Amino acid sequence: MMAFDVEAVRAQFPILSRQVNGKPLVYLDSAASAQKPRAVIDAMTAVMESSYSNVHRGLHTLANETTDAYEAARKSIARFVNAGENEIVFTKGGTEAVNLVASGLGATIKPGDEIVLTVMEHHANIVPWHFLRERLGAVLKFVPVLEDGQLDLAALPGLLTERTRMVAVTQMSNVLGTINPIAEIARIAHAAGAQVLVDGCQGVVHQPVDVKALDVDFYVFSGHKLYGPTGIGVLYGKSQALAALPPYQGGGEMIGEVRLEAITYADPPHRFEAGTPPIIEAIGLGAAVEWLNGIDRKAAAEHEARLYARVREGLRGANWLRVIGEAPGKGAIMAFTVDGAHAHDVAQILDRYGVAVRAGTHCAEPLMRRFGLTASARASFALYNTEGEADAFVDALTRTQAFFA
Ligand code: PMP
Repeated sequence: MMAFDVEAVRAQFPILSRQVNGKPLVYLDSAASAQKPRAVIDAMTAVMESSYSNVHRGLHTLANETTDAYEAARKSIARFVNAGENEIVFTKGGTEAVNLVASGLGATIKPGDEIVLTVMEHHANIVPWHFLRERLGAVLKFVPVLEDGQLDLAALPGLLTERTRMVAVTQMSNVLGTINPIAEIARIAHAAGAQVLVDGCQGVVHQPVDVKALDVDFYVFSGHKLYGPTGIGVLYGKSQALAALPPYQGGGEMIGEVRLEAITYADPPHRFEAGTPPIIEAIGLGAAVEWLNGIDRKAAAEHEARLYARVREGLRGANWLRVIGEAPGKGAIMAFTVDGAHAHDVAQILDRYGVAVRAGTHCAEPLMRRFGLTASARASFALYNTEGEADAFVDALTRTQAFFA
């Protein structure tokens, strides 16, 4: 097989050639937000320069062109995850997509109905469900996380009852990089009569996703982590699952008919897209997935795994380093602490060397607490990172530790 040509990929990301603090930028914060290839930047600029208008409401040429581009983006995204076009709802991000489903489910939640989550969820897949607990008396249950960062899946069947309405789980932890067996979880949850929502914000970035093969009811992801723009996210819902969900927000474009005494709603996906949608952002995300279609995703994932292994090898014997939860087959995200140094200080010193990492709770407080931490640093790798950058990170981290020693 041909080697993954990281330099050719990298050359398409204008920002990666900049310097930070007089050093070449080493961007290891892609799990928070990924950089954008020229194809995305150009697609967004092109629509503003040559055919921009509001969508779905004009009979003029620009309105038709922009509507076609917006709906073409939906088609591209549907193909990308093997969904039907009408099963793809545009939202403003991953967070809004989870809120849309949780609030819709809330319409039929009775006190004592149960939602099963996991301890490794991002707050975006915890807080909307807490709303159902606070407002409607839903009961939240959590699949525990084992010391090596895997879910304790043996505990899942025991958490499911005839009252379980939803099992909501991340495909890939944004902190540990753990990849969860979604098809298996969906099978267990469905056998108990529960629906399944998958937080694919990280998962969709690092592996091809087929929502039909996973057999999940809902799958959410965000544009900005998938080499697309901010302000756009995606909710996939099985057509019957979307049809059963009440509207999220009310306004233009989501209605069938509006009368003074009553209203009817449009069919999904438009039922869930009230008001002017993020048009340019949707077109940008469409360009991002088309760009990804031109990448050998398997080779990219192997490349990322090689970078992670190289960093771990470079840091072998570093007895001042604690890496949290290294589950087998995990993605290229390293959550770590340095003895004697606060994670925020580690991130700030690394920045002096041009290395961008994140520090804090990573919007996953229950997971941090599980590992007895209030904060960690996190280095996350993307397909545009190089072996040279992996080495630069090892070198900068070693110097950072020496600064505190
Ligand atoms: N879930 C996970 C696993 C994430 O990593 C993130 C982003 N940090 C989100 C949800 C939230 O997505 P968004 O930023 O698109 O709202």
